[in-house]
Amino acid sequence: MTHELDTRLAAAVESRREALVALTQDLIRIPTLNPPGRNYREICDYLDGRLSAAGFMVDLIRAEGAPADSDRFPRWNIIARRAGRGGGDTVHFNSHHDVVEVGNGWTVDPFGGEVRDGRVYGRGACDMKGGLAASIIAAEAFISTCPDFGGAVEISATADEESGGFGGVAYLAEQGWFDPVRVQHVIIPEPLDKDRICLGHRGVWWAEIETRGRIAHGSMPFLGDCAVRHMGAVLAEMEESLFPLLASKRTEMPVVPDGAKQSTLNINAIHGGEPVQEEGYTGLPAPCVPDRCRITIDRRFLIEEDITEVKAEVTAMLEKVKAQRPDFEYEVRDLFEVQPTMTPEGAPIVRTVAHAIQKVLDRAPDYVVSPGTYDQKHIDRIGKLKNCIAYGPGILNLAHQPDEWVGIQDMVDSAKVMALTLSELLPSGD
Ligand SMILES: [Zn+2]
Repeated sequence: MTHELDTRLAAAVESRREALVALTQDLIRIPTLNPPGRNYREICDYLDGRLSAAGFMVDLIRAEGAPADSDRFPRWNIIARRAGRGGGDTVHFNSHHDVVEVGNGWTVDPFGGEVRDGRVYGRGACDMKGGLAASIIAAEAFISTCPDFGGAVEISATADEESGGFGGVAYLAEQGWFDPVRVQHVIIPEPLDKDRICLGHRGVWWAEIETRGRIAHGSMPFLGDCAVRHMGAVLAEMEESLFPLLASKRTEMPVVPDGAKQSTLNINAIHGGEPVQEEGYTGLPAPCVPDRCRITIDRRFLIEEDITEVKAEVTAMLEKVKAQRPDFEYEVRDLFEVQPTMTPEGAPIVRTVAHAIQKVLDRAPDYVVSPGTYDQKHIDRIGKLKNCIAYGPGILNLAHQPDEWVGIQDMVDSAKVMALTLSELLPSGD
């Protein structure tokens, strides 16, 4: 690729700076809250208008029958394709269009798209409507600069990433949209920073652990068997043996932040005894010995670990508690699991984006692995497409926070990286 072409591509992105900001604002102003999944059709229609005008062929796909899909809250997705000359590769940019709840602590309108001090503010600004906008501007700049490119560019905006991606990328992958015969390179513009390439993520195991007891009158607890006390023993054993064991396991994966370079476990919830009363109930609790107590655990594991071993550690810990408590009974229920994934640094998409970062930012990229999962899991596992990374503007720590923002210069720079990547993977004919 010539230096002169790089300069023209960068200028084509630069000239679209205002359009990039306006597009990001428009996307933020469509409140695609998940749950429950609001305005999915509206954002897909908006993108349809935008991308059809730019010469893309558009498919709107509802994930019918997927979890959470309903006539009230249908799970709409959009895939847009702009083909050049035949015979080349397809480069696909996949963004999720859903955003998480607003929460407290905002000083700006979360759906206003306010621009201040070189930033665009709003729920979803960095996670990840800024990345979606950057990929669209990059594609438009590339197509206008290199009209006779080979292959095809695809842009998708998909549902439900924030709740597992089953009504979005998982559904599309099952339908063959991410078949490596169709698509050869995938970039997911999640907010990982403009100079970092995210190769993959750690694994996940969610499970529910329940301890069992026997209900009795609270004034005579000796006649019952308290499930909460049993759970207390489980938690004590976790502190004693499981957490130190997890802390001792370190990965070679370049996970950021550093605290996530080890195995981790969170207790997402604990419930036991009398259920929480409805709001407005002014009575007192009824005295009972709790006969069950439940926790939900969120175990994140490393590429060096095996999921059967991860589960066996928890069972071993529970068995240890059981040996010390004669009446102790427990059950473990699997809720969800994802294998860790990491695209090799030598993969074509990694090398090409690294090269483009070097040219645009004049530095080598950092390679990172995400502590949590994102839609790459479905592209990898269902789609069987390994040549996939996350690369996009924005600071990961701002995701899901109040006063979320994305930097305009970061969006422009990452759009330049994406445009240069397209020109390298989809060269024009002579
Ligand atoms: Zn995201």
